[in-house]
Amino acid sequence: MSLPSEVDVAVIGAGAAGLGAAHALENSGLSAIVLEARGRAGGRGHTIMAAPGITFDLGCGWLHSADKNSFVQIAGQLNFEIDKTRPPWREQSFDTGFPRQERADFIRALDAFYERAEEAARELKKSGDDRAASTYLEPGNRWNPMIDALSTYINGSELDTVSILDMDAYEDSEINWRVRRGYGALMAAYGARCPLALNTQVTLIDHSGKRVRIETSQGTLFAGKVIVTVPTNLIADESIRFHPALPAKADAARGLPLGLADKVVLALDEPEALPKDGNLRGATMRTAMGSFHLRPFGQACIEGYFGGSFADALENSGDGALAAEAIDEIVALLGSDFRRKLRPLAESRWAHDPFARGSYSHALPGHAGARAVLASPVDGRLFFAGEATSPNFFSTAHGARDSGERAAGEILATK
Ligand SMILES: Cc1cc2nc3c(=O)[nH]c(=O)nc-3n(C[C@H](O)[C@H](O)[C@H](O)COP(=O)(O)OP(=O)(O)OC[C@H]3O[C@@H](n4cnc5c(N)ncnc54)[C@H](O)[C@@H]3O)c2cc1C
Repeated sequence: MSLPSEVDVAVIGAGAAGLGAAHALENSGLSAIVLEARGRAGGRGHTIMAAPGITFDLGCGWLHSADKNSFVQIAGQLNFEIDKTRPPWREQSFDTGFPRQERADFIRALDAFYERAEEAARELKKSGDDRAASTYLEPGNRWNPMIDALSTYINGSELDTVSILDMDAYEDSEINWRVRRGYGALMAAYGARCPLALNTQVTLIDHSGKRVRIETSQGTLFAGKVIVTVPTNLIADESIRFHPALPAKADAARGLPLGLADKVVLALDEPEALPKDGNLRGATMRTAMGSFHLRPFGQACIEGYFGGSFADALENSGDGALAAEAIDEIVALLGSDFRRKLRPLAESRWAHDPFARGSYSHALPGHAGARAVLASPVDGRLFFAGEATSPNFFSTAHGARDSGERAAGEILATK
């Protein structure tokens, strides 16, 4: 779509939040456009065919809290099949490298940590104090590095950088489903009807005048109102500039950095040797380790997941480093025969992605309140959405979508 010179509402970013906003503005009588820097919709939702017959989500893959997830209904409307197979995260196929008894011990330590954290958050909420989640690890517990590894998958960051109050605010119904054709593919289909201007990078939002002036790589346009949905790291770094500047927003965004999670997919020869939707953990006593989903949907592949500073170090080692590490860890568990059975197909590099610069947000200790600050409108003209603004479903795709709908609702309420 070419750039109009004027619109009632400009939505910045065509990820889940921007698309949620655009849908909510449909039939409102307001003209709207979604300005998107990439050549595609979906943002951190991106499905590729890694090889014939192998669907791979480089970004979000799970419909978390599926019983409360607005994308479930959308998938039904768009004829996207939902797979309700339970996630294998607490299992270990073949009991290899991580025997059942050890696993039970680990799960006990993990659950005890979550209980301590919940109890502490209840107390801290009364005083408004906040602490790093790592404070509630039991000193000397041998499972602490692995509990921290889980934090790198869930928060994209180690527990010493995660606010306990924020961690406690996250809502998880523990029902996790998947989209057979890919979560990113579902998002792209959801965006198909939206008024999108692709390859349009916004550089400046000038709200000093009567109309908001937006400078983009495709020219300038004016809008009555703007919904900003870009990831926090881009607001923190002022990669999109506001004039006049919005220091409170930049501060809030700095308190909500994107952690890092990266995924890799490996083609698997002789797939029948491994269980469908199985699971493997690399090492058992380190934070720097991958988690492996065997044959997702029964496909002939293994998906690896890496998080936190380990994912960062792997990204910095260059293309192919994730795949090489994944193969080493799988071979250590399943035997050297697997080296010839595995072939790298694709891997993500979200920290190096200029329009994401990370994977999903967590609040730094002391910054749990930043989500509400980031979400609040400015002058009744600038509105904010995106996963980081969700009070309870932050870091997720459905939280992002719902936040876009919320921001559009704020605009419609002022009509
Ligand atoms: C590896 C990984 C695994 C994940 N797993 C899950 C999961 O299983 N389940 C789940 O629910 N969530 C998961 N997530 C998180 C989920 O993908 C995100 O929370 C969600 O997609 C964020 O949506 P958003 O609209 O807030 O942001 P984004 O999707 O980042 O959308 C923002 C958009 O703004 C655009 N943009 C940026 N700068 C500009 C600019 N200057 N001008 C114009 N446009 C710009 C971007 O290109 C992007 O399209 C995962 C994420 C990653 C990376």
